[in-house]
Amino acid sequence: MQLSNNRYVIQGVDLLNLCAEMGTPLYVYDGNKIIEQINTLKKAFDGLPLKIKYATKALSNVSVLKLIKSQGCEVDAVSIQEAHLALLAGFKPHEILFTPNMVGFEEIQEAVTLGLRINIDNISILEQFGDKYGSSVPCCIRINPHIMAGGNHKISTGHIDSKFGISILQMRHVERIVASHSMHIDGLHMHTGSDILESEVFLRGAEILFDAARNFKDLRFLDFGSGFKVAYKEGDITTDLYDLGKKLGQAFRNFCKEYGRELEIWFEPGKYLVSESGYLLVSTNVIKTTPATVFLGVNSGMNHLIRPMMYEAYHHMTNISNPQGVQRMYSVVGYICETDTLGWDRKLSEAKEGDIIATHNTGAYGFSMASNYNSRFRPAEVLIVEGKAHLIRKREEFADLTANQIILDL
Ligand SMILES: *Cc1c(COP(=O)(O)O)cnc(C)c1O
Repeated sequence: MQLSNNRYVIQGVDLLNLCAEMGTPLYVYDGNKIIEQINTLKKAFDGLPLKIKYATKALSNVSVLKLIKSQGCEVDAVSIQEAHLALLAGFKPHEILFTPNMVGFEEIQEAVTLGLRINIDNISILEQFGDKYGSSVPCCIRINPHIMAGGNHKISTGHIDSKFGISILQMRHVERIVASHSMHIDGLHMHTGSDILESEVFLRGAEILFDAARNFKDLRFLDFGSGFKVAYKEGDITTDLYDLGKKLGQAFRNFCKEYGRELEIWFEPGKYLVSESGYLLVSTNVIKTTPATVFLGVNSGMNHLIRPMMYEAYHHMTNISNPQGVQRMYSVVGYICETDTLGWDRKLSEAKEGDIIATHNTGAYGFSMASNYNSRFRPAEVLIVEGKAHLIRKREEFADLTANQIILDL
C-alpha cells in the first residue's frame, strides 16, 4: 500500500474506491508482495535444491493458492480439508506434504489414498503406519528438537512442553520401529514455531536434524519448517534470510557431502509469504469519548482478526480516508460483545465516522482464523494481481449462517 496523489493504492488500485465498490469489512491481498517474498526466499537459497512448501493454514483461499503455485511453490497442509483445497488449486498430490497433529489414523489413510506425502508426528501413528504400509509408502518424520524459539509461547512449537513432533530423545525408539517394519523414511522435518529472529536458532535446529538424519539411509529431503519473522512495527527486526541462506546453505552442503547424496532443502513459510500482502479494511462506525480514551469503533473485530486478542499481536493501522490529517490517539475496537480491541493507543490521522481504517499485515492468520461469532458475516476477500482487483470470496449473507442448521418445528 502506498500513497499516490494523496490516495492509498495497491498496484494502482485505489483502496477507497475499492471499499465503495465492494463494501467493508474487506480483506485485500497484494499479489505482487506475495511474489516478491517468494523471490527473496529463492534468492537467499540460490544454488540449493530448494522447495518452498507454502503453509496453507496461513491463508487458504484457492485463488491465493493458485498464485503461489504459479510461482513454482508446493504446499504443506495440516488437515485433509486443506489438502483438498490445494488439490482444487491444481497442486499434484505428491506436491502436498501432509503435516497434521493429533489426527486419527483414518485421516492419515485418507491422505495416503489421495497420494499425499505424509509427515508423521507421533510414535503411535508411526507404528500404525509401519504395520499397515511397511516399506510400500514412504513417509517423513517430524522431530521436536526441543529448542525454545520464537517470540511468543503460544506460537512456539519446538519446546519440551509442546505437543508437536516426536521428541529428539525418542530417536532410538523411532529407529527400532522403522527397522522392524522396513519403513521407508524419505524425509525429516522440524518446525520450531513462529517469529524466529536468529539464524543461529535455525542452525541449532539444523545440527539436531543432521544428527538424526545420519541414522536414516533413504532420505530425499530435510524440511526446516518455518518461523521467519516479518515486520509488524516500523523498525521491527526481521529474519535476515540472506544471512540464513549463507549459513544454513553451507551447513546443508557440508552435511550432504558427508551423507553421500544431494538432498532437497525444504521450508514451509506461511506468515512470511502472505502476511505483509494483506490489509483488513474496515469502516469507522462510532467515535466515542470516555473519561479514559477515545474509542474508534469499527465494523469488524476479533471475529475477523483474532491475533490482537489471542496473541497480543501488534498490527499497524492507517486511516486511509485522511492521509495528511493531524495525528490523534485512539483505542481501535471492534463491534463484538466482548473486550474486542484491535489496537491500543494508536496514533491515527484524525478520524471521523465513516472513515476507512486499514489494518496492516493481516494476510496471514487473518481470514483463515475468522469466525461467525456474534452471528456476523465473514468479510469478502480481494486479490490484486497485475494491477487488477479480483473478488476471490463473496461476503457472507444470512443464508450462510443457517445453511447447516436444522430448524426444529417447535
Ligand atoms: C503453521 C505451520 C507453518 C507456518 O508457520 P509460519 O510461522 O506461518 O511461517 C509451517 N509448518 C507447519 C507444520 C505449521 O504448522
